[in-house]
Amino acid sequence: MSGTDWTPWPEEFAERYRKEGLWAGRPFGESLTHWAEERGARTAVVAPDHRWSYADLDRRADRLAAGLHRAGIRAGDHVVVQLPNLAEFVALLFALFRLGALPVIALPAHRRSEIRYFCEFTEAVALFVPDVHQGFDHRELAAEMLAGVPSMRHVFVAGDPGSFTALADVDADPVPLPARDPGEPALLLLSGGTTGVPKLVPRTHDDWYYSGRAVAEACDYDSSTVHLVTLPIAHNWTLTHGLMATFHAGGTLVLAPSADPDVAFPIIAGERVTDTGMVPGVALLWIEATEWTDDDLSSLRQVTIGGTKLNPELAKRVEPALGCRLQQAFGMAEGLCGFHRGTDPQDIRLLSQGLPVSPLDELRVVDSADRDVPPGEAGELLARGPYTIRGYYRAPDHNARAFSSDGFYRTGDVVRLLPTGHVVFEGRVKDQINRGGDKIAAEELENHLLAHPQVRDVAVVGLPDEVLGERICACVIPKGDQPALDDLVDFLVERGVAPYKLPDRLELMESFPLTGLGKVSKKDLVARLS
Ligand code: AMP
Repeated sequence: MSGTDWTPWPEEFAERYRKEGLWAGRPFGESLTHWAEERGARTAVVAPDHRWSYADLDRRADRLAAGLHRAGIRAGDHVVVQLPNLAEFVALLFALFRLGALPVIALPAHRRSEIRYFCEFTEAVALFVPDVHQGFDHRELAAEMLAGVPSMRHVFVAGDPGSFTALADVDADPVPLPARDPGEPALLLLSGGTTGVPKLVPRTHDDWYYSGRAVAEACDYDSSTVHLVTLPIAHNWTLTHGLMATFHAGGTLVLAPSADPDVAFPIIAGERVTDTGMVPGVALLWIEATEWTDDDLSSLRQVTIGGTKLNPELAKRVEPALGCRLQQAFGMAEGLCGFHRGTDPQDIRLLSQGLPVSPLDELRVVDSADRDVPPGEAGELLARGPYTIRGYYRAPDHNARAFSSDGFYRTGDVVRLLPTGHVVFEGRVKDQINRGGDKIAAEELENHLLAHPQVRDVAVVGLPDEVLGERICACVIPKGDQPALDDLVDFLVERGVAPYKLPDRLELMESFPLTGLGKVSKKDLVARLS
């Protein structure tokens, strides 16, 4: 990746992270070779499609890398990966790391609007999709990308390929590949975002590898860990806490197609799952399901809840219902994450969202003038450290606002720090909706809605919701005939917007409340509509 595309850590920081042994200086491709040598036959991945040992995974990654190389994919190429929870996703990730091609990790729920943007913005040469997932034929979308994105040359399909190449057929005898620089970006994650277009988060081999190791330590993972992933594996949280942390520890990663108790509980019983992560809405479903299930959940040691704030009342129900330890966690694709530790007392685990995983994480809590607030008071969280990025991919103007001059990432989250260092989430200053852990940038949705002929002006806000935390409300000043919610939803679907971003509610208004500075007061809108 070229030097102007991303922001490396300043040399004095990089040197410290290396000297303290946090940055291992080992590219991911090599890590898997090392793990396979050490652990060979131990089970690495269990998924609906495969059951692979570490040696199997290593072999498949090698052969897949060689097959992609034969197809013409080279180091430095960008590719967009949009795959659900399949073993092939894991093999592909390591194959791309070995090749040095940079995956942009898209969510299965993304549609034309998002995928087209990722492909065009990164000048991607290949797209990896499932055949049909949750009723959506990704091959049709892929055909559009191939026809409409000038850089796009290949489509690979997990499952029935139609007129494209089946991912399973990408297979060749391993070829020697040039060594990778561990200090360089290995993949691009998606930011939860606050801007009109999603921002891409370049994570290096060194920093991402370290975050996986630090999470494994924070969660007390070892070779007996069997971690179940029910959320999309493509999400940064599941990738770090699930895939990377489990592999670090030498455990087994189990991929499930859904978090539905009917699907997940038999897998827990069958695979003797010890750990899993979920958002609060799923925790509620699971707690309710324990009242009727016959599945044996006794192997569970710990469930981790995060992505959006866990209500303390719901938190109290987790341990008695699921019969295992509750751990809360927070994190962001930009890096910083925190988890409760085994030694944390129960009140801390009920009321805070976690403790940063690295001793070299630097946290500041500041007021609107960037001054540190007194200890224990709430303010915006700024973060810097060995796995928190210093800038988004190709976004110099946005970077100037999103990072302080001394390299702290402005998280947009309002938090309070306990004397123990644990972080308590209190709200946010960023214009983003957190719908059950799915993040929606209000501005992105507003831009789409402004294109509707019956919308003169729009403000998108999150309204409180018992289960999801927030629901999406579009406040619209109409133009001509009043639009109905269904009209707007159909319009957004037609524009190829991901389903999780579709508004739940429409409020028609004649004007918006304004702040003293004449901006739309979303705070007042939320207060009025809640
Ligand atoms: P993402 O990059 O999509 O993982 O989104 C990161 C954002 O999710 C954070 O900046 C927070 O706003 C929010 N978040 C993550 N975990 C939690 C949590 N446990 N409680 C409250 N908010 C959270």
